[in-house]
Amino acid sequence: MIPLNANLDPLQRSGIRRFTNMAKEVPGCVMLTLGEPDFPTPEPIKAAAIAALSQNDTHYAPNQGILPLRQAIAEAEGVSEAQVLITVGATGALYTALTGILNPGDEVIVPSPAFSLYETIVTVAGAKTVTIDTSKDDFQLTEAALRAAITERTKAIVLNSPNNPTGVVYTEETLAVVKQAVWGKDIYVICDNVYDKLSYDVCPDLSRDPDLQGQILLCQSFSKPWAMTGWRVGYLVGPEDVMARLLLLHAAEVAAVPTFLQAACVTALSTDVAPMREEYRMRRNFVLSRLKEMGLSCPEPKGAFYVFVDISRFGLSSEEFCTRLIQEAGVALVPGSCFGCEGYLRLSYCCAMDALETGLDRLETFIRSIL
Ligand code: PMP
Repeated sequence: MIPLNANLDPLQRSGIRRFTNMAKEVPGCVMLTLGEPDFPTPEPIKAAAIAALSQNDTHYAPNQGILPLRQAIAEAEGVSEAQVLITVGATGALYTALTGILNPGDEVIVPSPAFSLYETIVTVAGAKTVTIDTSKDDFQLTEAALRAAITERTKAIVLNSPNNPTGVVYTEETLAVVKQAVWGKDIYVICDNVYDKLSYDVCPDLSRDPDLQGQILLCQSFSKPWAMTGWRVGYLVGPEDVMARLLLLHAAEVAAVPTFLQAACVTALSTDVAPMREEYRMRRNFVLSRLKEMGLSCPEPKGAFYVFVDISRFGLSSEEFCTRLIQEAGVALVPGSCFGCEGYLRLSYCCAMDALETGLDRLETFIRSIL
């Protein structure tokens, strides 16, 4: 092979996909691995896409996204439409934001455990991920930990609240500590808020802090709240001057997001997500009570649809635990190591109740067999 961009050398397949594929080889295995809502996309959103197609809304959209969608987002976010860029999911928003701001050698602070995409993009940009282990601090950020992580090379910090894989929401105190550490410095704050509409309680948020407006890059997605993962639509919000530059990068990557999908996303914004959120809340409560019965602990998930289960007392690595769980018990979870955190497993509860019931029964049988 003729050599490729050397920044690609360290990239690996996502661990989530790897374990999902391993589970597919085992007939009848219950999959609690993917962050993929089991609901269909709500009918009015699908109808809006079909109507847009019928009206021949099938030509190039403006690079930045169609105006009605940017206006609706601007209104919902309390920003100007010039600050909004429609992207290919939050993945596209994160890619444009991070590759657009990073130079080789820059550092990006990522609180761990974390979704692996951040590190992948930072690596592609030739920059360095600096992780902060939050597992000993109730999955929150402390002043001491932040102080130790920030250097003169720090270019950004990524905040993901509610968090994938823990479901934990950052407290006001954590956000105050972050604000104090970055305010007025040449450090961007990347807010990955893709689960904020699926919070079960309050979800404090730094993205609207008036003092930080020159530093915030907000990454959002239609994927999770409206069960639209396959549509691949999200958006990025940032300071006007920054967005004018990032638009050029986005235009070179994807030109524009499909026109008729954007038209339907306007309908999504006015579609209430509460029915799906309440169903997730019920499932979360069920999972928490079953885990408690088994004597397993986890940080309390206040949003998203994941539970991060502590398995440190079993003396197996999280990979080994998950591999055996698939092969011996027929239930698939994701090892904490895929999120940079040993001693835990991620369980996704965005699946049908009967799958959850069977999956948790099998987990219980398995832990009894190894104790
Ligand atoms: N951020 C987080 C925290 C996620 O969990 C995901 C998807 N699993 C994404 C971003 C990307 O989502 P999408 O590209 O589908 O919008």
